[in-house]
Amino acid sequence: MPQLQTTYPRPPSSFLSDDHDDFRRTVASFVEREIRPNADAWEQDGQCSRELYAKAGAAGFLGLRYDPELGGSGLDFMATCVLAEELAKGDSIGTAVALMAQSEFALAILADEASDELKAAWMAPAIAGELIGAIGVSEPDAGSDVAAITTRARRDGGDYVISGQKTFISNGTRADFITLAVRTGEAGPRGISLVVFPTDTPGFEVGRRLDKLGARASDTGELFFDECRIPATNLVGEEGHGLRYILSHFGGERLVIAAFAVGIMERLIELGLDYAGSREVFGGPILGLQTWRHRFAEMATRLEATRLLAHHAARLLSDHEPPGDMAVSMAKLHAADAVQFVAAEVLQLHGGFGQMEESPIPRYYRDVAGFSIGAGTSEIMRELIARALI
Ligand SMILES: Cc1cc2nc3c(=O)[nH]c(=O)nc-3n(C[C@H](O)[C@H](O)[C@H](O)COP(=O)(O)OP(=O)(O)OC[C@H]3O[C@@H](n4cnc5c(N)ncnc54)[C@H](O)[C@@H]3O)c2cc1C
Repeated sequence: MPQLQTTYPRPPSSFLSDDHDDFRRTVASFVEREIRPNADAWEQDGQCSRELYAKAGAAGFLGLRYDPELGGSGLDFMATCVLAEELAKGDSIGTAVALMAQSEFALAILADEASDELKAAWMAPAIAGELIGAIGVSEPDAGSDVAAITTRARRDGGDYVISGQKTFISNGTRADFITLAVRTGEAGPRGISLVVFPTDTPGFEVGRRLDKLGARASDTGELFFDECRIPATNLVGEEGHGLRYILSHFGGERLVIAAFAVGIMERLIELGLDYAGSREVFGGPILGLQTWRHRFAEMATRLEATRLLAHHAARLLSDHEPPGDMAVSMAKLHAADAVQFVAAEVLQLHGGFGQMEESPIPRYYRDVAGFSIGAGTSEIMRELIARALI
C-alpha cells in the first residue's frame, strides 16, 4: 500500500486532553510498526502472532484502565477509546479484536470483581502480555439471551466441576485462561456465576477454529468442557451474581466496538480521499464530481456523530454516571450503521479495485459486517435504548 497523501482533518475534541493526543501518536506509531506490515500474514494465518501480546503488554496497551499495582496505567475510558480507534486502523480489525478481547473483555470484570489472589495470578501476567485471556459467555443455544446458558459448574468439596460448551469465543483457541460464565444454580438469570478457567485443566478441549466472514486475524473458537475440575477459589465475586457482572461490563465492550468504528471510518475516508484525488474519470479526478464530494461530506458527518456519541458514552462510563448504558447502546448502534455505510461507500468509490484483495477495502467491508452482531446485536441495542426511554 503506498503512503497515504491525506490525513483526515479530525476536529478538536473537548473530551480529549493533550495527554490523549500524545497517547494517540504512540499507538499510531505502534500500529504502523507492529500491525500494518503483518496484517496480511495474520489474516491468512487466522490469528495474529502471540508475540504481539507481549509487545502490546510492554507498551502498556493491555492494562490501560487497571490498577498500577497489577501493571496497569490507571487511566479511564477516554484512553480506551483512543487506543481502540488507532488499533482499528491497522488494516486488520481481527488483530485489534484479539488484543481488546483480552484487555477489555476478559479483564474488565476481573478488575472490578475478582479476589486479589485471582488478580495477581491472572490479571497481572495478562496485562504484561505473558498470558492470553478470553471471555466465554456465548453458547450454541444462548447468545443475546445470556440468561439461557447451560454450561454447568457443580460444587464438589473445594472445587467446581464444569461441563458444557461455548462457541464464538474470541482468543478461544489459544487462551491461557477464560473468564467463564457457568450455571451454578437454578435456571434463569440468578443461577449464573463467573469463574476464572485455566485452559490446561484436564477435560477441556478446543473444538474447531471457526472460519469467519471478517475479523479473520482474531481466532474464534468452539470450546468443550467435560468434567473439568477447578478450585472454588476461582469464583469471581459472589456465586449467583454472574449475569449482573456480565451485563454491567458490556458497556466497555460496546464502547470498544464504537471506537473501532470511528478509527475505521477515519482510515476509510483517508483511503477514499487519496483514491478519489488521484483516479481520473472522464478527464478529471473523481473528487471533482459533486456527487462524490457530497458523499464524502455524508461519510464525515456520520463519522463525527459516531465519535461524539462514543466519546460522550466514554465520559459517562468513566464518571459512572447512570445514563452510561443508554449512551453506550446508542453509540454502538449508531457506530455499526455508520461504519457499514462508510465501508460500502468507499468500496463503491474504488470501482473494480475495491473488489481486489490487494487493497484493504474489501477486508474492511467484511470486517465491519460483524459490528452489528458482536458485543450485543443492533436489535438488542434498540431494545436497551427503548427500555431506558419507555
Ligand atoms: C466474531 C465474533 C466474536 C465473538 N466473540 C465472543 C466472545 O469472545 N465471547 C462470547 O461470549 N461471545 C462472543 N461472540 C458471540 C456474540 O456475542 C453473539 O454472536 C451475539 O451476542 C449474538 O448472539 P447469537 O449469535 O446467538 O444470535 P441470537 O441471539 O440467536 O440472535 C439472532 C438474531 O435474533 C435477533 N434477536 C435476538 N434477541 C432479540 C430480541 N429480544 N429482539 C429482537 N431481535 C432479537 C438478534 O438481533 C439477531 O439478529 C462473538 C461473535 C462473533 C460473531
